[in-house]
Formats: sequence, structure tokens, C-alpha cells
Amino acid sequence: MIVPIYATSTFAQDGVGGLREGGYEYSRTANPTRTALEEALASLEGGRHALAFASGMAAADTALRAVTRPGDHIILGGDAYGGTFRLLDKVLTLWGVEYTSVDLADIEATRNAVRPNTKVIWTETPTNPLLGIADIAALAQVAAGAGARLVVDNTFATPYLQSPLGLGADVVLHSTTKYLGGHSDVVGGALITSDDTLHEQFAFLRNAVGAVPGPFDAFLTLRGAKTLALRMERHSDNAERVVEALLGHRRVTKVYYPGLADHPGHEIAAKQMRRFGGMVSFEVAGGEEAALAVAARTKLFILGESLGGVESLIEHPGKMTHASTAGSPLQVPDDLLRLSVGIEEATDLVQDLLTALG
Ligand SMILES: *Cc1c(COP(=O)(O)O)cnc(C)c1O
Repeated sequence: MIVPIYATSTFAQDGVGGLREGGYEYSRTANPTRTALEEALASLEGGRHALAFASGMAAADTALRAVTRPGDHIILGGDAYGGTFRLLDKVLTLWGVEYTSVDLADIEATRNAVRPNTKVIWTETPTNPLLGIADIAALAQVAAGAGARLVVDNTFATPYLQSPLGLGADVVLHSTTKYLGGHSDVVGGALITSDDTLHEQFAFLRNAVGAVPGPFDAFLTLRGAKTLALRMERHSDNAERVVEALLGHRRVTKVYYPGLADHPGHEIAAKQMRRFGGMVSFEVAGGEEAALAVAARTKLFILGESLGGVESLIEHPGKMTHASTAGSPLQVPDDLLRLSVGIEEATDLVQDLLTALG
């Protein structure tokens, strides 16, 4: 029933050049537990190939370095994940790659940001932490017209809520640390594509650089993914209840959730997502100090980074996950709090927030 944890670094071979055990030779290159995870991830995203990585950032690094050379240009969404921004701004620029950050919800602005050397358009949708929505099908057209690749970081939506490859994306990236693993007990990443050449480039780089997950990590992620559908329904149900409670509170000045009819990306979200997921952000009256005080008072919403686990989390992006964007165009509001709404009883979650807000 269950794929075992193949805790082995190497595999016995039949003779020089003659492999056995299904073609495995060394676990940096391939391991059966990891292969099982990769087959599941490819199938979930409707892609031909998937590769699992030691983290979402390792997957991002491989995706970017496989398709860029010094002198190339990347277009990045305006409120990208802080780690992705840091990878571009502090690592890839040293290698001679340049980037522009654009509001990818604005298709015209995105088209205008394209240069002859643009190789990648990198989008998250919904974005982290402002829950902005980008039109994947429209961005795929811009990318195709520019001869660039569209990479969609599908970590927030998960394949249960959104299928970017079907909308024209070239590559889907996941931090499987989040909803796919789902239990806050493993760090991992993945790249999924239906393009054979891209897949070979990714596989070459992953093997050359070596940022692979161990077999136990692959096992945990595979185990978590089995309940993805059930969890995403519950995360979405609970997020809707939380949003409703926040909207009615006098100390909440703004709520960010793509399921809200007045969210600027609502129509596109409704078109490309099955539901709106478990991530909610909001602004608190009274600025940074007031926001930090709320985050310090919740009990069920545990103060912590990361997201997508069964337990609810609260964080202050400006001081925590997105601290590295301070002073850049990607800086986030200082009265912003981000919730990863878990699968607990909704009434308890709402009560916890109302008490913390006072
Ligand atoms: C967490 C996260 C990443 C990075 O993944 P790690 O597994 O932490 O390396 C990338 N993108 C998004 C949207 C994330 O939330």
C-alpha cells in the first residue's frame, strides 16, 4: 500500500554499466521514495514531469539558473515571497542577472517591462502576503510573445485550487513545506513542467548542485499530500468565517482575501481558482505597534513564520517573513498581519481573533 522509506544512499548494480533495482544508482540522482513523490506531484499538477527539492528556495534557484545566463533579465511580481526576492536581489544579481519588479496584475505594465533579454516572468498568485491576483492565462501570452518562460509559484493555491500548467504556464513551483506537506513537519520544494527540455535542464542542475530531499522528507510530503483535498476545503471554509468576522470589526481597517467581491482580482481569481484558500491578511488601526500587540495576544493562532499547516499561524510580515524587503519597492505595510488559517473549529478561531483585537 505504502511506498517505503528507501534509506539508502547507493544501490547494488548488476555489473559495470548494468543497473538493477529499477535503474537506481545513487540517491542524489534518484531514490524510489522521492520518485513516488514526484509522480504524485506531476499528476496533481497535470504535468509530465516533477522534481522534488530540499526546499522551495532550492527549487527556485534551480528554475532560475537553468534558464538564465549572465546578462539575462527576469520580471518578478511586485509582492513576491521575501525569499524569492532575496534570491534574485542578493544572489542572482551577483551572477549578472538583472530583474524588474512589476505589478503583474497589470498586464500592460508587464508587457512594457519585457526586454529583448527577458527570459523569465515569475509570478505568485495569490501573492504573499498581500493576496494579489495575477491572470495566469494572460501572463502566459505575454511570456510566449516575449520568448520567455512563465513560472508560477503555486504554493498558496496548491494544485487542488489552481492548475497553472493548464492555463499556459511553463513551470509550476511549490514550497511543499506549506500546504502540500501540510503538517509543518518537513521542508521541501518542487518543480513541475510538461516541457521535456526544461525538465532535463532542471534534473541536470539538481543532480549537479545536489539540493535533494532525503527519503524520509519525501515520505512525509507524500503522506501529507494524500489529505490535500480535505484540508484545502476546510482551510477555505475557515478562512471565509475569519474574513467575515474581521470585516465586521472596528479595529480592522482593511482585509485582503481574493474571495471578497470587492478584491481587485476577485473576478480573475473566481475564473482560475476553485476556491480562495486559507491565507488572509489584514491591517489593524493604530499602525505597527497595534498590529504587533494583536499578534502577541492570539492563543490559537500561534505566532510563527511559514503557513499551510493544520494549525493556525499569525505573523507580522514587515518584521518577520518580509523583513528583507524593507526599503525596497516590495516593502509591505507596517500595520499588516498575515494569517494562515488552519483546520481547527472555526468558532474557536474567530473567538481567538476577536479577543486579541479587543
Ligand atoms: C515558503 C515559500 C517559498 C520558499 O519555500 P521554502 O520551502 O521555505 O524554501 C517560496 N514561495 C512561497 C510562496 C512560499 O510561501
